[in-house]
Amino acid sequence: MTQFTPYWWQDQPQYRNTEAPPAKVDYVVVGAGFTGLSAALTLAEAGCQVIVLDSEAIGFGASTRNGGMLGSGHKMSVADAQKHYGPTIAAQLHCEANASLDFTKKLILNQNIDCDLHTCGRLRTAWTPQDYTAMAAANAGLQKIQPFAARMVPPDEMAEHIDTKLYFGGLLYKDHASVQPKKLHQGLLELALHAGVKVFGEQPVIAVKPQLNGFNIRTKGQNIHCQQVLMATNGYTQPSVSMFLAKRVMPVPSFIIVTEELGKNRVQALLPGGHCMVETRQRFCYYRATPCGKRIMFGSRAALHAITPQQALNSLTTKLTEVFPSLQNTKISHCWTGFTGFSFSKLPNIGCHNGIYHAMGYGGNGVAMAPYLGHKAALKMLHPEQQFSVFEQTPLQRRIYHHGSTWYMPAASAWYRTRDWWDNRQRTKALSALNQKSDSL
Ligand SMILES: Cc1cc2nc3c(=O)[nH]c(=O)nc-3n(C[C@H](O)[C@H](O)[C@H](O)COP(=O)(O)OP(=O)(O)OC[C@H]3O[C@@H](n4cnc5c(N)ncnc54)[C@H](O)[C@@H]3O)c2cc1C
Repeated sequence: MTQFTPYWWQDQPQYRNTEAPPAKVDYVVVGAGFTGLSAALTLAEAGCQVIVLDSEAIGFGASTRNGGMLGSGHKMSVADAQKHYGPTIAAQLHCEANASLDFTKKLILNQNIDCDLHTCGRLRTAWTPQDYTAMAAANAGLQKIQPFAARMVPPDEMAEHIDTKLYFGGLLYKDHASVQPKKLHQGLLELALHAGVKVFGEQPVIAVKPQLNGFNIRTKGQNIHCQQVLMATNGYTQPSVSMFLAKRVMPVPSFIIVTEELGKNRVQALLPGGHCMVETRQRFCYYRATPCGKRIMFGSRAALHAITPQQALNSLTTKLTEVFPSLQNTKISHCWTGFTGFSFSKLPNIGCHNGIYHAMGYGGNGVAMAPYLGHKAALKMLHPEQQFSVFEQTPLQRRIYHHGSTWYMPAASAWYRTRDWWDNRQRTKALSALNQKSDSL
C-alpha cells in the first residue's frame, strides 16, 4: 500500500515545544524551514533573543519534503541575467550560486550534521539535442566567470551514468550532492536550539503589525512584541499575513514517489553513475537513489496547481516507467507533494518591505540556497547598512494576473504541455535522423 506522506519522515523524530511563546522578544522568524532555522541560528549566535513560529508541526514545509538534491544555482540563465541585470550582477549571481553550495556543505561537515551527505554529482540530462548544445554553451560561459567542477557528458557516454535511452547527453556537476532532507532539517533545528533559539510549532502567525519600537505579532492565542521580523514562509506564504509577498511569490507544487525496495544491485544497474538526475524538459523529472541505495526516489511536476498526491500518483509512475521501462510493475511505497516558492524574476530575494524582512523565491532550488540566504538575511537584519548578498539586488516582481491566488495555473499547465509537445517533435526528428544514420552505416 502506498503511503501518502514523505518517505523521509519515516522513523525520524518530531520536535514539539509545549511551552507558550514569550510575550516579548528581540526577533521573530515566521516559518521553521531551512531559511527560518538558519536565520535564527545566525541571530542567536550574534547574541540576540530569537523565536521561530511555524503554523504547522515543525518541519512541515518544503524543507523536509524535497528531493534532497544539494546543488548550486537558480532558474535564470546567464544570458537572461546579463540582459536584465548587466554583466556585473550576472557574474555575482553565478558566484553566489556556487557559494550557497559551498556554505551548506561546510555547515553540514563543520557541524557534523548527520544527514547522509554524499557528493554524488548531479547529471542534467538533455531532452533534445538543442538542449545539449545550449547547456554546453552556457557551461562554457559560466566557466569563464568562475570555474566550477562541471563537464559535458556526450551521448555515447550516457550508458556509464544511466540505463535509459531517453537523453541526448548531459552536463555533470561533480560537486553537487545528495542529503536526507528531514535529517538535515533536524540537524539545523538542533543547532538553533543549542544556540538558544526557541522554536514553536502549531503557532500560526495571523498578522504582523508595526508598533512603537517594533512589531506586534498576532498568533492564534496571543500577541508578541518584537523589534524585528523575518518572513521565511516561501511557498507557504499566506495572503492574509503578507499580501505584499503573496503577490510576488507563487506557490508551485512538486510531487515525489519512492519505489519499494529494489535491491542495491538493481538500483546500481539503473543508475550506474550514482548521481542525482535532473532533466532539461519543461515539466522535468528529477530522481536519485535513496541513501540506503535500495530504492529510487522520483519527482516531477504532475501539475502546476495543487492536486492531491493520490491524484498525482498515476502520472508519476507513468513518467518513472518512461525513464526506466523495467520498473513497469514496481510498487510505490510513498507519494507526497509540497510547495516551492517561485518568484517572477526567477531569482531568490532578500528584502525588506515596511520594515519586515523576507528571504524566499528559490524556485525549487532551495536545499543549499535556503540555509545560505537565511544566514545572509540575518546578517542584513543585524547590519542593515551593509550589503551581504547579490540577492538583495534581485527585487521580487509582480505580474498583472497574480494577486496571491494561482487561478491561472491550469492554463499555465496547458502552456507547458504545448512546449513539451514542441520539444518532443524536435526529439522525434533528431531520433529519426540518428536511426537513418545508423541504417546507412
Ligand atoms: C517536492 C519538492 C521537491 C524539492 N526538491 C528540491 C531539491 O531536490 N533540491 C533543492 O535544492 N530544492 C528542492 N526543493 C525546494 C526546497 O525544498 C525549498 O526551496 C526549501 O526547502 C525552502 O525552504 P524554506 O525554509 O524557505 O521554506 P519551507 O521549508 O517551505 O518552510 C516554510 C514554513 O513556513 C510556515 N508558514 C507559512 N505561513 C506561516 C504563518 N502564517 N505562520 C507561521 N508559519 C508559517 C510553513 O508551515 C512552513 O513550514 C523542493 C521542494 C519541493 C516541495
